[in-house]
Order: sequence, then structure tokens, then C-alpha cells
Amino acid sequence: MKIDKPPICPHCKTETQKYDVQPWDGGGWGVPFLYVCFNDDCPLYIGGQKHIEENYGQVASYRYMVYPDTGKEEIMVAYSPMFFQKKNIISKEDEEEE
Ligand SMILES: [Zn+2]
Repeated sequence: MKIDKPPICPHCKTETQKYDVQPWDGGGWGVPFLYVCFNDDCPLYIGGQKHIEENYGQVASYRYMVYPDTGKEEIMVAYSPMFFQKKNIISKEDEEEE
């Protein structure tokens, strides 16, 4: 099912944001963007951070994401700050300019 508007993250009830995936994966996702929860207070993010730090000794965490073309939900490992640079968030203002 195609998604037309940002889904709500089931973990923190915050609206997801469009995330431009092409700069860091050359478009390998098969979609121009993903809907990702960028709430740093998201229980998934906070819990994931603890889990990864304790188990792998790395600073990373999980983010909730949704494929816009299918509505498929995923949880991805977000190595910060490399993986999730917030500058790649497609803001609502940006979209209106196009
Ligand atoms: Zn969330």
C-alpha cells in the first residue's frame, strides 16, 4: 500500500519525517526517500541505544522507518552521526518550493 502522508511512529506517536536516502546509499533502497522517526526521545531509539552499547560497545541505535511505496515497516540500525544526518531530512518547506 502506497503511503501519501507521513505515518505516525507506533513507538512514540510522533509523525515520521521524509528522509532522503540517496546521498548515502546511491539510491540502493529502491525508493527516493523513507519515512523515518527522528524523535530522540523515541522509546525505540533510547532502548536501542542502551542495547547496542551494552552488547556491542558501539554508539548506535534503532530508528523506526516505513517504505513510502509499500507501507512496509522496518527497524534500522542507525549509526550516528554518520548514517542519520538530519540535513538529509526533506522538510515540508523544501517540498513546497518544488
Ligand atoms: Zn518513534
